[in-house]
Amino acid sequence: MARKFFVGGNWKMNGSKKEIDDIVSFLKNDFLDPTVEIVVGVPSIYLSYTKSILPTNINICGQNCYKFAKGAYTGEISPAMLLDNGIPWVIIGHSERRNIFKESDELIAEKTFHAIESGLKIIICIGEKLEERESGKTEEVVFRQIKAIADKIKSWNNIVIAYEPVWAIGTGKTATPQQVQEVHDKLRTWLAENVNPSTAESLRIIYGGSVTADNAINLAKEKDIDGFLVGNASLKPDFIKIINARK
Ligand code: PEP
Repeated sequence: MARKFFVGGNWKMNGSKKEIDDIVSFLKNDFLDPTVEIVVGVPSIYLSYTKSILPTNINICGQNCYKFAKGAYTGEISPAMLLDNGIPWVIIGHSERRNIFKESDELIAEKTFHAIESGLKIIICIGEKLEERESGKTEEVVFRQIKAIADKIKSWNNIVIAYEPVWAIGTGKTATPQQVQEVHDKLRTWLAENVNPSTAESLRIIYGGSVTADNAINLAKEKDIDGFLVGNASLKPDFIKIINARK
């Protein structure tokens, strides 16, 4: 079964109305491969503004949400709030949430469970740190992260997995196509053995970590790389070239 290529932009804590106008303007004025599913992850406060000016061939995505629908959780937003504002996607478990805000595998799994039950589509991020890769623990780490989620959720229908080695995020050091393909292949095998073969076959596994217009072309050629999650370059016109990397 062909998996639809997926390219997500993660704006992180960047942007102003003026900068968002500029990003939307280059997204509107160029060719975007219509076979690619495109989403942009926007800071909460700008979700509604961005949605009001974004072309309809691009979807919009929150960058985080909490594990309950409402309550005394100052500073948090819920899946229900995202959906109430017409935001269908959310990123959960980004390495910046895991490492700066100390979100555990358990919390990420609980948030994923609640987001799915609420009806959101989710980009779940996993990936090893440099010292974990260097000590041969990449597999152990990504399997542990994915297992925490698999133990909690009932359906993988609305999920995209983003494999994002922490050492490649925002560092300018991209994993090679072979390194990424190897991990994606292992993740698919893990899913076939621990979830089911049809989920393993249909689930999109995308790569994130210093993706640029140049390296996207070779990465996109690998059979188990189903797209990208893009930080820095998603704020620039190069994002268009990444979206069109397979053209
Ligand atoms: C990210 O934020 O998910 C990311 C991969 O960032 P960058 O592309 O800047 O490395």
